Amino acid sequence: MTDCLFCKMVKGEINPDTVYEDDDVLAFRDINPQAPTHVLVIPKQHVSTLNDLDDSNAHLVGKMMLAAAAIARQEGFDQQGYRTVMNCNADGGQTVFHLHLHLLGGRPMHWPPG
Ligand code: 5GP
Ligand code: ZN
Repeated sequence: MTDCLFCKMVKGEINPDTVYEDDDVLAFRDINPQAPTHVLVIPKQHVSTLNDLDDSNAHLVGKMMLAAAAIARQEGFDQQGYRTVMNCNADGGQTVFHLHLHLLGGRPMHWPPG
């Protein structure tokens, strides 16, 4: 997708603060962090929302979750704990329509999130 912000990061047209990368996923620090560590984990392949996952690309979510756990270890808060969130469409609060997993850590989280 040519005008997708996160696809531009995958293509290297925009350089985010990358913390993890492999063949399938890219992870970088959120520009407006909501916790001491706030990282976005995205599939390199463009998928707009969770609603657009199917059997052909479902493995990407497993890769995203594994990347989040690896980054939590890397950041040193895997044992204290952390939160992963995936927002979908308007009521879910999604603002960027390229699938992404938020990884939030470094402070206690509250529930429900509101
Ligand atoms: P959503 O609201 O779609 O779940 O999350 C989108 C996230 O992308 C937000 O947390 C927002 O701060 C982040 N974001 C938006 N634009 C940029 C950008 O240009 N660079 C980075 N690193 N994060 C961005
Ligand atoms: Zn995209």
